[in-house]
Amino acid sequence: MTIKVIIAGPRGKMGREAIQMVKQTDNLELAAFLDRKNSSDLHNGSDVPVYEDAEKCFTEVKADVLVDLTTPEYGFSHTEAALKHGIRPVVGTSGFTNEQIQSLSKLAADKQLGCIIAPNFAVGAVLLMQFARMAAKYFPDVEIIEKHHDQKLDAPSGTAMKTVELIKETRTKKIQGHPDEKETLPGARGAESDGIRVHSVRLPGLVAHEEVLFGGNGQLLTIKHDSMNRQSFMEGIKLSIDEVLKLNKLVYGLENILNLND
Ligand code: NAP
Repeated sequence: MTIKVIIAGPRGKMGREAIQMVKQTDNLELAAFLDRKNSSDLHNGSDVPVYEDAEKCFTEVKADVLVDLTTPEYGFSHTEAALKHGIRPVVGTSGFTNEQIQSLSKLAADKQLGCIIAPNFAVGAVLLMQFARMAAKYFPDVEIIEKHHDQKLDAPSGTAMKTVELIKETRTKKIQGHPDEKETLPGARGAESDGIRVHSVRLPGLVAHEEVLFGGNGQLLTIKHDSMNRQSFMEGIKLSIDEVLKLNKLVYGLENILNLND
């Protein structure tokens, strides 16, 4: 079966990669682009229609899946509109609030339609988080260093925040470091959640990188993942396009569609 895909945000860095991924995948076909500027360079000799208006796009185009790679504000309204039109969303756009996710979850359940939202589509990053969760049971002393390109707006990254939450599920709570520790330069010890330290680095040249460092008596364990380019997110998006067709509810997080316990 050929899956017809609409891409929202086709001129963005992720959107451009997604177009290539769809073109190179046998069972996927580009149905339309949703682009707020409808720029002519998108056509590039192809006959894929370009829409500025989501409602018009979803009404006129027969598509199976929307891949949204835009901004939280537009991504939310695109996802909502797609579900209302019977199109299953795969959402890479980051920054949705819990309320927005709950509202989309209810809509997907009402419509009995699949919807996948994942803050990180890199399979390696998802595995890193799961491995960190396992290790924290045995190594409660842990610090996270996440590194991203200098155009990133939020810190710590969504992936680092998710890693902290997963570590908390297995780690025995403890205050780390020396009890009399003092910062001579404020922020030197990074951000803190339940005693877990998180350090955010922002530099041009970086893409998305995370290290989780565990310390024990006479031993260190480091779990590390690097996204070297945006192709690293495409396998997860491709898998999600296939999986979203089998779902009848919203799934949050790529780990919930990977069979990690097999
Ligand atoms: P980007 O290069 O800034 O691209 C965002 C694109 O969205 C821009 O081309 C922008 O158009 C477009 N856009 C904004 N509003 C739109 C609208 N109303 N309709 C259609 N397009 C609209 O950013 P990016 O690096 O590609 O990232 C895109 C999103 O994916 C971000 O939310 C980012 O955090 C997220 N992301 C997710 C993952 C993951 O694994 N889940 C990985 C990387 C990035 P203009 O050029 O007109 O502004």
